[in-house]
Formats: sequence, C-alpha cells, structure tokens
Amino acid sequence: MSDPVVEEPENSEPARPETGWRKLVGAKSGAAKPAKVVLYENSNLAQLARVFEESGAGWFWSVDELQRITYVSPYVAKKLGRDEKELLGQPFQSLFQKDAQPGELITRSLPFVLGKRGRFANLELRAATPEGDECWWSISARPISGPDDSFRGYWGNGLDVTANRRNTAESLRLTSSDTLTGLASRHKMGQRLEATLTAYRVAKRSCALMMIDLDRFKHVNDTLGHPAGDELLKQAAQRLRRVTNEKWEVGRLGGDEFQVIVPDVDDRGTLGDVAMRIIAIISQPYTIDGVRCVIGASVGVAIAPYDGLASDELTRSADLALYAAKNDGRGRYRFYSSDLHDEAEDRRQIEDDLRDALARGEISVAYQPVVDTKTNQISGFEALLRWNHPERGMVPPSIFIPVAEDANLIAPLGEWALRQACADAASWEGSARVAVNVSPIQFEREGLVSMVASALGNSGLAPDRLELEITESVFMGEGADTDATFAALKKLGVRLALDDFGTGYSSLGYLKSAPFDKIKIDQSFVCDAAEGGNRNAALIAAIVSLAEVLGMETTAEGVETLDTLELIRKLRVSHVQGYVYSRALDNDEIARRMREQDIEIKPSGPKHIRSDRKTLFRKIGVIHEDHRYEVTMRNLSKSGALIEGLIDVPMGTKFVVDFSEGQLAVATVVRSRGHSQGLRFEVPLISDGSVGLCTRHRVSPYALAAAGMPLAALPPGQYPLVNNGVDSKKGFSLPQFAQIEGDANSRRVA
Ligand code: C2E
Ligand code: CA
Ligand code: CA
Repeated sequence: MSDPVVEEPENSEPARPETGWRKLVGAKSGAAKPAKVVLYENSNLAQLARVFEESGAGWFWSVDELQRITYVSPYVAKKLGRDEKELLGQPFQSLFQKDAQPGELITRSLPFVLGKRGRFANLELRAATPEGDECWWSISARPISGPDDSFRGYWGNGLDVTANRRNTAESLRLTSSDTLTGLASRHKMGQRLEATLTAYRVAKRSCALMMIDLDRFKHVNDTLGHPAGDELLKQAAQRLRRVTNEKWEVGRLGGDEFQVIVPDVDDRGTLGDVAMRIIAIISQPYTIDGVRCVIGASVGVAIAPYDGLASDELTRSADLALYAAKNDGRGRYRFYSSDLHDEAEDRRQIEDDLRDALARGEISVAYQPVVDTKTNQISGFEALLRWNHPERGMVPPSIFIPVAEDANLIAPLGEWALRQACADAASWEGSARVAVNVSPIQFEREGLVSMVASALGNSGLAPDRLELEITESVFMGEGADTDATFAALKKLGVRLALDDFGTGYSSLGYLKSAPFDKIKIDQSFVCDAAEGGNRNAALIAAIVSLAEVLGMETTAEGVETLDTLELIRKLRVSHVQGYVYSRALDNDEIARRMREQDIEIKPSGPKHIRSDRKTLFRKIGVIHEDHRYEVTMRNLSKSGALIEGLIDVPMGTKFVVDFSEGQLAVATVVRSRGHSQGLRFEVPLISDGSVGLCTRHRVSPYALAAAGMPLAALPPGQYPLVNNGVDSKKGFSLPQFAQIEGDANSRRVA
C-alpha cells in the first residue's frame, strides 16, 4: 500500500488527451454546475466509461473549485445508501468518514490534500458507508484548470481497496507484531523459535521457552468489558517487557497467552526466578479507566534440547507445564517433566469421575473445629468437602475443587455443601457456627443470595450461625455487583469471612470497605511467621490491630505445632483452626460433642517441625565410580537426602545421585549408620514450582548423543552409565558397597 502522493499545483493543464475520459470530462466541466447531464453524450468513450463504472472496478468523480461534487459514479451513491442527485453539490468530504480510525494508515487529511490544488494519488479514506459495512477507497485526482489557468476543481477516480487493506493488516499481523500490544505476534514467535532451535541444535546450545497465561483475565473482560480487557493486555505486555532481557523474544500468542523465548539459559534456578518475577509483576494491581483490578499469571517452562528438540515438541512440553501450573492453583510456575503426562491424564479421569460423584453419594462434608485461643473452646466449625473415591480412596479438596471450578461443577457441589452444612448445623445442640466455603465462581453467579436464603429457610438455621468464607479474588472485578451481593448477604443476616488472607494480592483496603466479620490468615503465612526470618509476624500483628479496630475476629489457619500456637496467642489472634486442636471430624462426632457439651479441646502436637524435609519413599540410583546402586530415598530437602539400601558406607564418600530424567546431583556422605546414609548435595536442589524439588541442571541430550544414544529430548527413567572418560581398556572396578536387596522399605515404593 503506497502513501498518497501529493504533487505541486501545475500552472497550466496540458491539453494532452491522455485518456478519452479525461478529455471528455475536461471539455464539459468548465462550468461549476453539475456536469452529469452533459457527461454521457452519445460518444463511445462515454459508453466505455459507463461499462467501467458498472463493472465495479472503479468509479469517477469531479468537484468544483469549492470542492463540491459535480459528478460521482452511481456506484458511490448506491454504496453510501444515498440518492445520486442528493450528492451533487455536496462537499466531497461528505463521502468519507470524518474520523480516522486509531491506528489506521491515514497519513494526511482530505482537506489538506485538496487544498494543495495539485495532483494526488492513492489517498486511502474510509467511505461513509452505513455502520457494519466497512469500506475503504483509494482516491486519485488531478486539478482542472480553466481557460485562464484558473483552478476549477478536480476530477479523479476512486477504487475500492477494502480487501487489500484487510490482507495487508492480516499480513502485518502475521509477519511482525501483535497490533494490540506491540509484542511479537504468534507467527513471528513461531518463526523465531523454529530458527533458534534449528541453529542451536547444530551449535549444541540450549534455549528455554516460557508459556504465560493470565489468571482471571476472562473475569475482567466479562465484567469491565472488552476495551478494558484490551487495555489490561497492553499494560501486562509492558510489564512483561520490563522484566525480560532485551535479547529474549516476548510475544503474544493471542487472547491472554504470552510467550517468552530465552536463548542460552538452561539453569532451572535462573528460569524459576524469572518465572517468579513475571508472576509477581503481572499480579500487581492495574488501574483501568479509574477502576482497580488484579489478575495473576501462571507460567510453564520447557527447555531445549532436554524437553524437546523441535519447536512443536518444545511448545507441547511448555504447554503441558503451563497446564500443570494452572492446576496447581494458579499464580505458579512449573517445569516440564515427563510425569506431567500422567498428571494431565489423571486430571481428566478425576473430572470424569467427579461428574457423577454427588449422585453416587461419594461426597460428604467434614467439620473442622475453630477454637477460641483464650479459652480453648470450640466456637464453630468449617465445613470441608470430602470425596471418597471408589478406587482412589480419599481425594483431597485441593485436588478436586480446582477441577470442579474448571469443569463447571463447582456450583452444584457448592450448593450441596451449603445445604448439607446448614442442615447439619441446625441439628446440633447449642449455637456453634458453621462456616462454608464459597467459590469465587459461585459468588459471581446470579442466585447466590436466594440460594443462601433458601438453605437457611429449609434448614431453619439462624442466619447468624452461618458464616460464608470468601477469598479476595471476588474483588478482582470490583464491580458494583460485588458490593450489591455483599449488601444482600448482610441483609440476610449471615456472617462473612475473608478466607486465605496472605496468599493473593492481600490488601488491607478490602477490609475497610467490605463488611467482613472475620479474617482468616492463610496457613502458609502462619507457618512462615513461626519459622522467623521474615516480616510475617509483624504483618499478622498489624492485621490483628486493624481487625480489632474494625470489630472483626481473626483466625489463624493451619496451626500444627505448640510453638506456632504460642506465637499466634502472643500476636493476639482470636481464633485458631489447625491440627494442633483437631482435624476435620464427621457430623456424628460433632453432633455427639455438641450434645455432651464437650467443647473444650486441649492443644496437642509436636513442639516444632522441620518443614523443609519431606518424608517419602522413592527409589533412586546412586553412582559411585562406575557402579550404580539402587537405593530408597527416605527424605529429601534442598540441601540433602536420607538414603537406605547400602551397608557400611564410609563418611566422606562421594556419590552421584541419579534422580532420573537426567537429573544428577553430586553428594557427600555426611552421616552413615548401618544401612542408612545422610547425603549433602554439592549444589542445592531448587523448587520445581510445585511441591517438588529438582536439580538446576540436567544431563544434556547432546552429551548423551556423544555417548552413543540417539539425539532426543530426555526420556523418562534412569539412563545407563555414561562412560565419563573412564578408560574402558582398564575394565570396570569391583563394587565397593554391599547392597541390601528387596528390603522392607523399598518394597513399599510404588
Ligand atoms: P481452606 O478453606 O483454606 O480450608 C482449610 C484447609 O486447611 C482444609 O483442607 C483443612 O483440612 C486444612 N488444615 C486445617 N488445619 C490444618 C493444619 O494444621 N495443617 C494442615 N497441613 N492443614 C490444615 P482441605 O479440607 O483439604 O480443604 C482444602 C481447600 O478446599 C479449602 O481450603 C477450600 O479452599 C477448599 N474447599 C473445601 N471444601 C470446600 C467447599 O465446600 N467449597 C469450596 N468452594 N471449596 C472448598
Ligand atoms: Ca476456607
Ligand atoms: Ca483458608
């Protein structure tokens, strides 16, 4: 598409008959009156002009010196839905839309161009067609001069270029940048990834791919409208640029999906940090048209050549990692590993089974006591869904609630839980409260208020004995609806609790404006406070002070140890819900306690726990010289592991631990007792973004290929010993450690 060309006015219009049409019009339009009547006299040229016009290939126009239309092809009137005659004498500009569309390719305005009284060509303007019929015309013209060389107007032609423009816009979109955010387009990202991976494969270099998906974007789009959604995407894109390196390619794949190509980085520690930074910056609040909103982000990471060699394979891996990150509860990152295939399959199965779980009577509600920290007396219970799966056994809500939310099953489940909890609580003696979780998805739906009213009505439970637990994500849209729902619920007389405070974007601002009766401080926040070395204790103190001023209660969740309980008491938190008092119990047990007035619970539990150490039973390999031993890993932390299966290993022995999938860690034996050894890793493990740990680096597929394996992404499992420069002519040494075969513990490994 070329820019319009404006030429200087010509002093004398040459009488050269370039085209028959020109000559004809030129000859007849000396006067400023409409020329149509005289235009098509019975000349052959007039006939030809008409055929041309009727073909739709183009159209003609002429204006007088005041830019009033003296002729225009019938096609134009038809296209504009106006009467042909009515157009004559009208300003030429009236054929076009007044305002250029933002971002369109207009470079100069029509009055400016016409005012120059010179030739111009290919000026693209949007036709004043009725709404819904977008049409663009390209206009060219030359001035008409009178006998005395005076300017008498223009005559010119027009061309429909709508399709062209669309194609150009399309190819622009395809070839370079995303028009909304200015980031690279999906097409460009694809090309860049393909080119990078092809070149890097030859050069044996690595390249990471990050898939980013915004959490709750749809909510903003739905509640604040698409223009606000667009604005949010733009701001999110700018933030992404800010936290990424110039050498990385950042693109938008469409919708709320973004991608970053990170060349020459395969250190998962570094990539995890980058992913955290991305999540943190995207999760900061946005202001859009004066409205504040908050979204989140999930990130999936895959690294070539480990997780895929070609771009489609690597993309699939990163997608799967993203899917896993989302399922982990959003606001997380996750590295690809081949286990994720099973995880994804598992989830599909869970979703399938969940559809009939209610009808099959597999779902129940359990009640966890909420205890007054001063008196050790139960003040109420939180209703928690339980799913007893016929094959899997108890499936925790942390697994099935997110599935239910995604699969549109949370509304019936949530309603069932609410009605059941109200009915159960109504049957208890005394006035203990019951708290029920309300998913943000339920909160957004119409009919929540009437459903709550009906559950209260049917069960006969006093409204002030029901507490609804709501997470702060219901504020994301900050629409009037949220306020109205809160007001309507308060009017019913039920209590409201802000759940999981300290996990999302926790703002004390909500507390001042929303009518909460209670703040529940999240488990992770509480645990960290007890471990010290952070500001959580100070923050909890601040939350408690504010809550006291506002007349709200506070509950610390997930208190497991006596140490933590002591701290929580010192911080004047009014209530505790945690294993230190009790786990969730079934309704019969609660009913009995209430009947017998058995409401005081003595706290009990360990004094403190090392929370970084996970107990597990997993088979791994340890390599010493050129021997591999199979051992059982009993626990694992970032800095070390406890293994069982080898006898009498001297202190200081160096092992290479094979965690499978190319994850090797050099470790030293720092403790050795009989058949169990404590290992310390030379390089600490890092978080895999979920609950697990992983090594920063993995065995490179290039190294495996050099050792004779085919070049491919890392397969699952453990690999045969790679001969690391050991001289094979010397032969292999004898194993130095005795291994216990099939010991009791390893048989427990799944
Ligand atoms: P939540 O609302 O934060 O519920 C508290 C969770 O912490 C419960 O897990 C509870 O068993 C657990 N917990 C309590 N004390 C301790 C402790 O001392 N240590 C540890 N490690 N955990 C403790 P649960 O029952 O697995 O529920 C998980 C989540 O599932 C709940 O988190 C809630 O978000 C959701 N959920 C459960 N029932 C429902 C429901 O009926 N509707 C909705 N929408 N969500 C539900
Ligand atoms: Ca809750
Ligand atoms: Ca909670």
